Amino acid sequence: MTKIDLSRKIEVPSWVDALLKPTKIGSGELERQWEEIGDEVMDVLKKVMPTGKYTLGPYLKKFEEEFAEFSNSKYGIGMSSGTAALHIALEAMGVGPGDEVITVCNTYVATAFAISYCGATPVFVDIDPKTYNLTAELVEKKITSKTKAIVPVHLYGQVVDMDPIMDLAKKHNLYVLEDASHAHGAYYKGRRAGSLGHAAAFSLYPSKNMGAYGDGGVITTSDPELNEKIRMLRYVGQRVKFIHEVIGFQDRLDEIQAAMLSVKLRHLDDWNNRRRKIAAIYDEMLKDTPLQLPYVADYAHHIYYSYVTITPNAEERTNLLIHLANNDIGAFAMYPILVPMQGAYEDLNYKESDFPVGSSYATRVLNLPIFETFREDEARATAEAILAYYDRA
Ligand SMILES: *Cc1c(COP(=O)(O)O)cnc(C)c1O
Repeated sequence: MTKIDLSRKIEVPSWVDALLKPTKIGSGELERQWEEIGDEVMDVLKKVMPTGKYTLGPYLKKFEEEFAEFSNSKYGIGMSSGTAALHIALEAMGVGPGDEVITVCNTYVATAFAISYCGATPVFVDIDPKTYNLTAELVEKKITSKTKAIVPVHLYGQVVDMDPIMDLAKKHNLYVLEDASHAHGAYYKGRRAGSLGHAAAFSLYPSKNMGAYGDGGVITTSDPELNEKIRMLRYVGQRVKFIHEVIGFQDRLDEIQAAMLSVKLRHLDDWNNRRRKIAAIYDEMLKDTPLQLPYVADYAHHIYYSYVTITPNAEERTNLLIHLANNDIGAFAMYPILVPMQGAYEDLNYKESDFPVGSSYATRVLNLPIFETFREDEARATAEAILAYYDRA
């Protein structure tokens, strides 16, 4: 049972207010995307709607096959959300009460919640100061006899250094589930995210590099046994209709979402390349500022789900956020509070000093606007506003 205390006081960071008003630069991402592909999407909608088949039909099967192929994997399994994808994949790996699952401190809460939904305990590790991702060295220190799995997160669109993680997993007989929710189409040494662990969970939330028109998710794997278990669990524990072998879930991806996602998948590599062009503009224009810019490891093909800078200190992050908002530019901070420091995990008794790099970055992380329809002139205007801030400061 979850204890909820509504009388608890909530502390909102001071800069949040400044970011509540809509800005001209940095918003309208999904409206612009619709302008670009709306006709194509309407065409498939008109095909799906009259069929009378809205779940587990041919469009879902088609999208699953296409996404698996795109992600260099044997199987794709459409899910109701990224959170459900993470949860069901871990259940299929046999994660349960008493188990520990190692993940990273600076991720979206759902990565950790999925572990908790299985009844297992998330064990959080700090991050590499350059890539902002977890590393095999950090993970190895936390492995115990209870460890069952590792969930690396390809944060902001840059893949984790996966070969050492897989070696470690092999040595200790652990499962690896990629949280690839920021990495649809990213590469690691020429292999796609989604094909690197035993399975991968992707969120298809609308604002991700590829998203549904509402909630959605997808799991990839090349393990036939995991594929079969995941399919059972996502649809009320049955392999054969009316035969419920285990307590499963109701976590399918809808036919209409799948059909529309097949349209988007055709654009994904182009969209990711546009994000990379925007990132190159930021890289070039901001290289002489005090901001720490994204470091791209030689094994990674970064797809910039987000363009993330680190300010020299927390105060400067606040000032820059407000300065950019005043210039009608929508920057933000993701993630401003580490998952282990959230109220949801206070029982685990983590301290900020357990995550020296992550804790410092959480107060200094500054995300600049980037999306596939973000224009180059908007990126230049954003960079110029930052340059103006530093001339003035
Ligand atoms: C978006 C996201 C999720 C959760 O996905 P939903 O589709 O919103 O449930 C999980 N992990 C990461 C890293 C995410 O960014």
